[in-house]
Amino acid sequence: MIVPAGEVDAELLDYLALVLPASFAVPCLIVAESLDPESCYDSTRRQYHSTRLLGRLGRFDQGGGAKILGVTEIDLFIPIFTFVFGAAQVGGSLALMSTHRLRQQFYGLPEDRKRLWDRAEKEAVHELGHTFGLRHCRSFDCVMRLSNSVEEVDLKACHFCQLCGPGLSLESGSTLAA
Ligand SMILES: [Zn+2]
Ligand SMILES: [Zn+2]
Repeated sequence: MIVPAGEVDAELLDYLALVLPASFAVPCLIVAESLDPESCYDSTRRQYHSTRLLGRLGRFDQGGGAKILGVTEIDLFIPIFTFVFGAAQVGGSLALMSTHRLRQQFYGLPEDRKRLWDRAEKEAVHELGHTFGLRHCRSFDCVMRLSNSVEEVDLKACHFCQLCGPGLSLESGSTLAA
């Protein structure tokens, strides 16, 4: 299920709910309630603490193995990095992604919604892939490749490579990944 954190473009959420079932063969619904991210704000960095916000998604977890994807427009960080596009529990239920740095406007370019939605889909599939037990992949166009920039997001495809695809797992026991 998709949980919006803060104000999130409803059309983007609808798009993700429409396309994500194709990657994971499970239905996807959007929670009506939105998660308030303010308690995760770091006033020194003027960004939101990704790990804390990820943890707060836990209250939407009702067990039963459903995956929870938080989607937000705010800028996320973890202390050792300038920013992160998202975060997830490897083999757990919680995943989080931000569109903040996926927008062309962030880089001083004109808005391009098609490109934003493509990037958001890739990052959503990537973070959810972690919850299904996948780690980062070195394959050039695999969606599980780690992206440090939007250029790298654009270069990879929205699908799993031949190694990662069959590796999707429902086993639990989780660690964190970006
Ligand atoms: Zn792969
Ligand atoms: Zn990752």
